[in-house]
Amino acid sequence: MKPVRLDKFLADSGVGTRSQVKTLLRKGLVTVNGEPVKKPEQKISPDRDLVVCQGRQLTYTEFFYYMLNKPAGYVSATDDNTAPTVLSLLKDAPGKELFPVGRLDKDTEGLLLITNDGALAHHLLSPRHHVDKTYLVRAAGAVTDSDLRKLEAGVDIGEKAPTLPAKARLLSSDLCPVKGAEPAVSSLVELTIHEGKFHQVKRMFQAIGKPVTHLRRVSMGSLVLDEALAPGAFRPLTKDEISELH
Ligand code: URA
Repeated sequence: MKPVRLDKFLADSGVGTRSQVKTLLRKGLVTVNGEPVKKPEQKISPDRDLVVCQGRQLTYTEFFYYMLNKPAGYVSATDDNTAPTVLSLLKDAPGKELFPVGRLDKDTEGLLLITNDGALAHHLLSPRHHVDKTYLVRAAGAVTDSDLRKLEAGVDIGEKAPTLPAKARLLSSDLCPVKGAEPAVSSLVELTIHEGKFHQVKRMFQAIGKPVTHLRRVSMGSLVLDEALAPGAFRPLTKDEISELH
């Protein structure tokens, strides 16, 4: 790991803001390899130097990784002036410059990876890597075997080429009561795609004439949505989840 300034090391280790860090340094409450250090600009080798602040040994973390169960109504962006962003749900989480890896529509729910690791995001989003994304899709109407075969083979969504081969599995077809009318049929489909075109799943179901009424992402590559996370809740990824993603 490359050397970092002591004040950055301390702030990134969750000790406090840059100005709280300055105070701690000024008061001589930080030691590096047993010696009190007051200079914020002192360079630290995160893997070699032992940094202790108020008796607590610190470990430096450069990158942060969170799994968020995105609720509907939030936009997958770092800033927006029309709706709350997914980052507002992580405002107390340690880590600077966090961003969502890819986008889910405002009304889509489910798995969203939030990190500050740009290289990993690039890897996961790169069309060359074709990372699988699995969605639970509630669609209006009865999705037939022929629809599933079309979704799997590739459908015309108005792009230069049809969508790439996908996997589609019908989980259930249900009759939903509709007030004052005949009950409506809706279908629950598990769809795995390798691309990430704008509104891709909605456009694929539009192409078979069964519009999406509810969409939830349940996995991305090796990362599977933790069902214990309520909508809006998040947790750090485990060490295994992080290493499997790389
Ligand atoms: N496909 C969509 O149509 N919407 C999403 O949010 C994700 C995939």
